[in-house]
Amino acid sequence: MNGPLPAGSAIGIIGGGQLGRMLAMAAARLGYRTIVLEPQADCPAAQVANRQIVADYDDGAALRELAAACDVITYEFENVPVTAAQRLAASVPVLPPPRALEVAQDRMAEKQFLNGIGIATARFFPVDNDEQLAAALANFGGSGVLKTRRLGYDGKGQRVFRNMETGGFAGTCEAMGNVPLILESLVAFEREISVIAARGTDGSVVAYDPAENVHKNGILHSSTLPAAISAETVSAARAAAEKILAALDYVGVIGVEFFVLADGGVIANEIAPRVHNSGHWTEAACAISQFEQHIRAVAGLPLGAAGRHSHCVMENLIGDDVDRVAALLAEPDTVLHLYGKTEARAGRKMGHFTRLKPLSR
Ligand code: AMP
Repeated sequence: MNGPLPAGSAIGIIGGGQLGRMLAMAAARLGYRTIVLEPQADCPAAQVANRQIVADYDDGAALRELAAACDVITYEFENVPVTAAQRLAASVPVLPPPRALEVAQDRMAEKQFLNGIGIATARFFPVDNDEQLAAALANFGGSGVLKTRRLGYDGKGQRVFRNMETGGFAGTCEAMGNVPLILESLVAFEREISVIAARGTDGSVVAYDPAENVHKNGILHSSTLPAAISAETVSAARAAAEKILAALDYVGVIGVEFFVLADGGVIANEIAPRVHNSGHWTEAACAISQFEQHIRAVAGLPLGAAGRHSHCVMENLIGDDVDRVAALLAEPDTVLHLYGKTEARAGRKMGHFTRLKPLSR
């Protein structure tokens, strides 16, 4: 890409969920058009984009159509088939680079990458059968978190073992679907935080303050700013995020989740090569949201400031939580965002809200 993308250019977004929707809205504010590739018609992103190509993410004809119609292509989820991203990249810039997908799609590759650039993670062993599970658990004193290496999200495909005697695991790997697994050591963390950071085409980096995250049933429940952590912990988490961005020659927004230990040290848990649920608060508490920051980055525009004008708490509206909408709208400093989903199924993210506490009051 030579120079910033002119207004009126088309940005392709692979994936049509709420993250794609919020990216498309930010792109529109900057004068761009958006084309969404998503198999589900009338998806949340397509409702606000210029156009949707209704097809699977690895549909050859659809990918050619998308590449021909777009000036740059990005994505809103990390399980975009790497081969599809690479094929697109042969004819149009794909940002963040497909290498980021490769690293983020496999928990083993992710941890090896992080350790390779000096970032601490939980200890881990690959597990392909029950014998390997027993041996790995014995190594961790009988406790650990067993996860699928690929395609896990929102705590799905995970099993926690605490102080188990070794043995008695017959059938565990089969119950997990006989897919490649990873056993991680059980981290005794005090809290969970995430850093949302962005890197531009010129290598400049901005990072938002770390959010303190609470999960319920494996799904993000809330993100609170400021996190109850020391300045040293803030610096350590930001430094790790910046190191990851540089190592991947990254362009766009990344979300990095960390465990914070009792001594204030941080252990990286997961990287998401995209805008992130724990960064939704930025649309309400910052002049430039993570969504605009991402569009600025992939369009080759200068990044904006990542400063915060308010303390805040973001909460997800999951399933029936949408019944709270009327009450939330009655609160004076609450910013509501709904995703255009009509059916409030259990566990489905329907929207979110951010309660602001302006710093000046
Ligand atoms: P993940 O899908 O890796 O983000 O894991 C979902 C949640 O499970 C995390 O946010 C933690 O609360 C918990 N968890 C995951 N891995 C570990 C670990 N190695 N030790 C302790 N808790 C974990």
